[in-house]
Amino acid sequence: MSDKLMDFDEAVRRYDPVIGLEVHVELGTATKMFDAAPNVFGAQPNTMVTPTSVGLPGSLPVVNGKGVEYAIRIGLALGCQIAETCRFARKNYFYPDLCKDFQTSQSDEPIAYDGALPVELEDGTIFTVPIERAHMEEDAGKNVHVGGADGRIEGADHSLVDYNRAGVPLVEIVTRPIEGAGAQAPEVAATYVRTLRDIFRALGVSEARMERGNVRADVNVSLREGPDAPMGIRTETKNVNTFRGIDAVVRYEISRQAAILADGGTVQQETRHGQADGTTRAGRIKSDADDYRYFPEPDLVPLAPSREWWSRSVPVCPRCRPPSDAG
Ligand code: ADP
Ligand code: MG
Repeated sequence: MSDKLMDFDEAVRRYDPVIGLEVHVELGTATKMFDAAPNVFGAQPNTMVTPTSVGLPGSLPVVNGKGVEYAIRIGLALGCQIAETCRFARKNYFYPDLCKDFQTSQSDEPIAYDGALPVELEDGTIFTVPIERAHMEEDAGKNVHVGGADGRIEGADHSLVDYNRAGVPLVEIVTRPIEGAGAQAPEVAATYVRTLRDIFRALGVSEARMERGNVRADVNVSLREGPDAPMGIRTETKNVNTFRGIDAVVRYEISRQAAILADGGTVQQETRHGQADGTTRAGRIKSDADDYRYFPEPDLVPLAPSREWWSRSVPVCPRCRPPSDAG
């Protein structure tokens, strides 16, 4: 069933788009975030795994100091405050590629928060993207669907799981709602992620290869009547890993949601999936943070990265604020 769409130009004349981006970057550390398994891409499935990577009973995690240092580097480059103390949290859910039943992440105590990233658009204007937080977490494994088209689960005969990626260090960077981009919202979204990719490379924290999924964006889009109206219901399109795809998702969702609103309908709050043709299709109904039952990770001590430690070990890059200015 194809979606009803409103012409993009008309949609942004009638409605004010608000977007939000959650960008995940895989860090290029030698080992995983909480265990000693090598962090390498493309190895034989399930060869780069320890009991901790898959959460076997009795296994215990240990924090990778390099991962913390890289997360702080990213936070500084985005103008964030660095937390004096922070904790890891369990985000509880089951998925075959997350067989330990929870993802080790951070919830209300991120390592970096309150930043901003200016990005330069095609027409030379600078748009500043407000950043809420950058937090540390681990990647999940990878489900491999066999027998269907394009490795999709639809029509597959069976599925395999490769846990080599389980426990690979991630930093997730979450923007505040990005307002005021108007017709440039698709470009702002794509340019923001491209700018991040360049920063990750300049900082040396990740190879940031899009085609390997080193950098992936969850793209939130909503529409409202005008800049003073309350924000509308958003959709979240998961794991988009091309700049063109990010632009296309924002553009498509604006046209799709505008058609729904113009018909007097309501947008369904849901997770969607980006398609190769630049459209999105519905996935599951979005879970709330409550559904994850976050709680502090009992097997890891709180982190208190002292300024003496990180200001010595973190090289200052051109875009970073000097450590004396950061929280
Ligand atoms: P979740 O936990 O569901 O991912 P978050 O609070 O982390 O939700 O928000 C996800 C992203 O969506 C953030 O970048 C946030 O700024 C953005 N966002 C929140 N509300 C809206 C909205 N109404 N429209 C567009 N983006 C939004
Ligand atoms: Mg989120």
